Amino acid sequence: MKVGIMGGTFDPIHYGHLLAAETAREACGLDEVWFIPAFQPPLKDNEPGAEGPSRLEMVYRAIDFQPHFRALDIELERGGTSYTIDTVEALLEQNPERSFSIIIGSDRINDLPSWHRAKELAELVTFIGVERPGESIEKSRLPDYILDRLQITQMPLIGLSSTDIRRRRAEGSSIRFMVPEKVHSFIKRNGLYES
Ligand code: ATP
Repeated sequence: MKVGIMGGTFDPIHYGHLLAAETAREACGLDEVWFIPAFQPPLKDNEPGAEGPSRLEMVYRAIDFQPHFRALDIELERGGTSYTIDTVEALLEQNPERSFSIIIGSDRINDLPSWHRAKELAELVTFIGVERPGESIEKSRLPDYILDRLQITQMPLIGLSSTDIRRRRAEGSSIRFMVPEKVHSFIKRNGLYES
């Protein structure tokens, strides 16, 4: 069974994340995509705007009734800095019969060599890259150990980011149709990201 790992802060989850997951699933013949919200992402300085349980709840709401999508709380439960290698090692131990690919946007691909234990990670998984507007993949700057394990997938460019969604909420602007309706209602009901 081939599983795509969609890691992120999901603060909040939006249609860019969902379309990246679906595009990668179809293009790479993945059986499932597992969404794994980070407790504390290693390369982000600021703390997430919403608590882990709220971010996980929004992921559950976004993928509700999608048979190929699952959400895992493994990084939230572990706490501390959420290194992908730790997650992958744990998942492989629990699921030795599965192969894992990490779905990753073009902004993060360029950072891959600086990820914790990047070389070991590249031995355990493959990477599925999706393009993000304004962030082209700089292949010439990536080492062979990553390029050899990287497949780039075309998806309709979605110029959404969680940062922009949080900023819009803080300004009192609408975020309707940027996130699934069940995520939208959860954000509004709980007053998330208000200034
Ligand atoms: P923030 O703005 O808070 O940094 P984000 O929108 O970048 O958040 P993350 O949760 O950090 O979202 O991203 C998780 C993964 O989804 C990353 O691999 C990221 O590159 C990818 N991703 C996020 N938004 C998009 C998008 N609009 N199109 C394609 N990939 C995306």
